Amino acid sequence: MLVITKASIDECNTKYAQGGIAAAIGLGDSPEIHFQDTIAAGAGLCDPEAVRILVDEAPDRIRDLIHFGVDFDTQEGEVALTKEAAHTLPRILHAGGDATGEHIERALSRMAQQAKVRILEYFLATDILVKDGRVQGVRALDCRTGVEEEFEANSVIVATGGGGRLFKTTTNSDIATGDGVALAYLAGAEITDMEFFQFHPTALRLPGAPVFLISEAVRGEGGVLRNRDGEKFMSRYDTVGDLAPRDIVARAIVAEMRRTGTERVYLDVTHLPPRLVVSRFPQIYGYCLNWGLDITRAPIPVAPAAHYMMGGIRTNTWGETNITGLFASGEVACTGVHGANRLASNSLLEVVVFAKRIIQRTQEINQHTQTQLITPSPNPKETVPLPERPVKGKTALPNLNALESLHWEKVGIQRSGEGLLEAVKTLAAWEKALGQVTDRPSYEMRSLVLAGRLMTEAALMREESRGAHYRSDFPEPLPKWQKHIIFRKS
Ligand SMILES: Cc1cc2nc3c(=O)[nH]c(=O)nc-3n(C[C@H](O)[C@H](O)[C@H](O)COP(=O)(O)OP(=O)(O)OC[C@H]3O[C@@H](n4cnc5c(N)ncnc54)[C@H](O)[C@@H]3O)c2cc1C
Repeated sequence: MLVITKASIDECNTKYAQGGIAAAIGLGDSPEIHFQDTIAAGAGLCDPEAVRILVDEAPDRIRDLIHFGVDFDTQEGEVALTKEAAHTLPRILHAGGDATGEHIERALSRMAQQAKVRILEYFLATDILVKDGRVQGVRALDCRTGVEEEFEANSVIVATGGGGRLFKTTTNSDIATGDGVALAYLAGAEITDMEFFQFHPTALRLPGAPVFLISEAVRGEGGVLRNRDGEKFMSRYDTVGDLAPRDIVARAIVAEMRRTGTERVYLDVTHLPPRLVVSRFPQIYGYCLNWGLDITRAPIPVAPAAHYMMGGIRTNTWGETNITGLFASGEVACTGVHGANRLASNSLLEVVVFAKRIIQRTQEINQHTQTQLITPSPNPKETVPLPERPVKGKTALPNLNALESLHWEKVGIQRSGEGLLEAVKTLAAWEKALGQVTDRPSYEMRSLVLAGRLMTEAALMREESRGAHYRSDFPEPLPKWQKHIIFRKS
């Protein structure tokens, strides 16, 4: 087995996950309730079979993580569980307070090193090699020498994470440039649900400080949102109040910021026992303190930020794509468990549940070389190529600032047909203007432009509002749109 990663092994979104990982293991909880919560959050677009697998296999995968050395927090000898938005019951396990991702990443990296998995750091995958509908391997650029190499493989698992760098304000790591989606699309894989991008309601908005996530678990433990005047406002937007689903809270914050003419609202934990705040959220407490804010004494200035890519490479419940031998896992995959809106803490769970199934599947294939791969049987009529967008004249090469601002302003929390059309035209022109790709920044720019176009074209096509996708010109969900948009290169 060979792992190729474009940065150091520990640089990824996983490392930054704070809140935790969901599993129905608490008293009175059940996979059935977890199933219902996930389906409700997905706003009519979850795949029930995939969700069933997610919730049923969760407790076993948590046991695996504990076995691999993830030390989940405990309370009186039992695994401690917290509540997050749109979960009926407390079912979020966490480690190191708010350092869950770091604990998982460290344990799994250690396992891989002990298992003597070959790991190539600073190798950027630049092409997925496919012949006659079957994967052949990948081409990768050694970022330190600038030399490209081809690696042959029977099975390739794309696990390149999300695309938060598309947006000016994001909680994501710098590695999240949508590479996997772009490479898979170019190789002929199906890409779906790209219009659904989740914006986290509460990222730190402190002058001078970089964007930093303030976990939903802070509201789960009793934190409340207040506007500039100190007023609790969430009950005006949703009966559930501060723990309403993420899309509702993010839009409510935007509305409240507009109404009061500010760029931030406040998340207040000053009424909670300081000892609880410090022990439960050591990272958040420490980070804010470093920037001069003691959150046990003063409310935290926050605003929404781009957070999670629900769409991605379309897979079946074994992680297989429409290309034989090509698998996708994690945030880059669209297994169907999130639908139009991810339920908090279901993404780390999706990673471990479906990665395990992919490994089982590849082992089966290796043991029985004659086994026919089950590929999703897409109805080709369901898929569409990206629309042709004729480009007149010459356009300047895109730069990262312009690209991030374009998505933030035109393809962000509130979208409109007019803004989306402007954005797809710009993206198509940038696509044409891209010159030769030779190094990591230029390859990443190619991925960002293509992933951005897949997202923006889908958002323009979907003339309704559903889950994380909100159109001011079509503010309601429409029954005729209870379906997926699937792109495939013609
Ligand atoms: C701040 C933050 C907090 C979060 N909190 C939670 C939470 O509490 N609970 C939860 O469930 N989810 C949370 N999430 C979401 C969750 O962390 C991610 O969805 C999940 O970790 C993604 O894992 P992944 O393995 O798919 O991708 P990643 O962990 O991002 O890993 C992707 C890897 O692919 C590599 N890569 C990318 N492109 C290439 C290329 N072209 N060539 C080679 N290598 C490449 C990267 O270098 C990286 O190592 C959070 C996300 C963020 C950003």
